[in-house]
Amino acid sequence: MSSNEYVSLPLLDADNHPANGAMLECTACGDSHLHHGEISIDEHGDIAIRFWCEGCPESDDPMRDNLKLLIHQHKGKTYLSWQRLVPT
Ligand SMILES: [Zn+2]
Repeated sequence: MSSNEYVSLPLLDADNHPANGAMLECTACGDSHLHHGEISIDEHGDIAIRFWCEGCPESDDPMRDNLKLLIHQHKGKTYLSWQRLVPT
């Protein structure tokens, strides 16, 4: 039986667009064609937005929304990070 866990990934440098803001890129392949899905807020108020990437090989897989963008607050500061669900 296999299980999965999320691993943290750094945010890549994002291209800033004057009207739209920073463009996110997939941390695995660098593709910018990301599609957001489920949005959740946990009991600490942290926000997780799931994404899947057109450029990643697993984009046809049911587990394709394996990327999460996290908005996390700690001691009054706000952090953005990516997490990717990987098989363990
Ligand atoms: Zn990708």
